[in-house]
Amino acid sequence: MFRSVHSPSKGQVAVREIVKPPYYYNSIDWDRLVKEYEPPFEFMSGTRLWSRDRIAAAQTERLKGALERASEVPFYQRLWADHGFQPGDVKSVDDLSKVPQYTIDDIRVSIDREPPFGDYQSHHFADGAHTPLRFYTSGGTTGMPRPTIYTQWDREVGAILSARTFLMQGVRPGDAVINAWAYSTHNAAWIMDHGLWHWLGAIPITTGTGNVTPTEKQVEMAQLYGAASITATSDYLLHIADTARRMGIDPKNDLNLKTLLSFGDTAAVEEAFGVPAYDSYAFHEVQYVAAECEAKDGLHIFEDAFVIEVVDFETGEVLPPGHRGNIVVTCLYKTGTHQIRYNIQDISATHELTECACGSVHRKLDYFQGRSDTMVKLRGVNVWPEACGKIIQDNPGVSGEYFVYVERVTPPGKMAREEMTVMVEAADGVGDRDRLGADLEKLLKQKIGVQIGVEVVDRDSLRELTGHGHRAKLKRFEDRRGVLAR
Ligand SMILES: [Zn+2]
Repeated sequence: MFRSVHSPSKGQVAVREIVKPPYYYNSIDWDRLVKEYEPPFEFMSGTRLWSRDRIAAAQTERLKGALERASEVPFYQRLWADHGFQPGDVKSVDDLSKVPQYTIDDIRVSIDREPPFGDYQSHHFADGAHTPLRFYTSGGTTGMPRPTIYTQWDREVGAILSARTFLMQGVRPGDAVINAWAYSTHNAAWIMDHGLWHWLGAIPITTGTGNVTPTEKQVEMAQLYGAASITATSDYLLHIADTARRMGIDPKNDLNLKTLLSFGDTAAVEEAFGVPAYDSYAFHEVQYVAAECEAKDGLHIFEDAFVIEVVDFETGEVLPPGHRGNIVVTCLYKTGTHQIRYNIQDISATHELTECACGSVHRKLDYFQGRSDTMVKLRGVNVWPEACGKIIQDNPGVSGEYFVYVERVTPPGKMAREEMTVMVEAADGVGDRDRLGADLEKLLKQKIGVQIGVEVVDRDSLRELTGHGHRAKLKRFEDRRGVLAR
């Protein structure tokens, strides 16, 4: 610490104390970091092969630490007091279900109570004088953005988890990787960049999305610099492949790609580029949670850093493997904001515990199946718009693009009822659209158990509705019922 020595004269600011912050290189215990959260290469032969006993022991110890840290945060003090929970009630990771869950609605209440940060952060900007901090907000797909303050420790662990993902999925030191996520107020692009650069020896090419670097330019750069990989959503990767073809570049043969770091369905991406594409599960506050390995059979959870449960949509009870419900995340490593049984309302299921072909016994999470907050109750049946899209997306008669809306209609002389419609783009050369629509309606009825309309539209005509080519995360659903019906 040093004291500034300006002698204030008239009109000058008064003497003030300036605290020298710890610099990046000496502000965390790096040895402890890499011992507790192994970097990618150590992880492959270390943590990745831990036994179930070893995983449970580490989770128990880390969970106790996380509960202790969270117990100092007003948000958790309130939540836990309301439910009569005390951190001491947790003796092992098996007691996790005693901890009350919360959702984004509780985070919104917290922000309303203490705008703009809420009372769920354990660090504030002033703490930047003591530890390097980063600040990101959620994309705010639904509702207002959620701010998150990350300590350097949180950033490094998150970056290690992202680097582990990339190594598992075929990126190697010295590879150039096009990062086509938005370098914006959202965390995604940044944590990938950090992982590639600091923890894998790969070189991010920082294109950002098509809004920042036009897709044609991204294709040119991928070719010019021999990029080994691209990280983007599956939707955007497919758009890149389309664009390349329109430019006369064959995405299969004219690029140097060897793997694609995707989010979402990978089959169409692999087909388009002719190289493996891998899925992962991550979100803003906690960074990489789970990643697909070469076996391509579900996503391995990083169980040294998370405990993941899947719970019933209505009761919140933990579901056995194979049952679809909401993902509940407990993050074991965070110090800046905490996520202890955060019901994120993403839909998935856990797998039965087995040894994967890759040799790991880390629990697997099924592929992301949509958001439960877009769930529509249609004549007593829970319907997820994304699930409808997935069912008909692979039909050869459609382009794969879809958009779903729900509305309230009153047929003449009948009661008002809610109708869901899936709009799909016809593939090139489809003749009988009515027949295609009727076939798809039949398929939906058979799979979901309720009548859902299908409207076959021209190719590329859904772009405006979905934001194709502009948005990283396409809009797939619109609720047109009006506020009263919700
Ligand atoms: Zn595996």
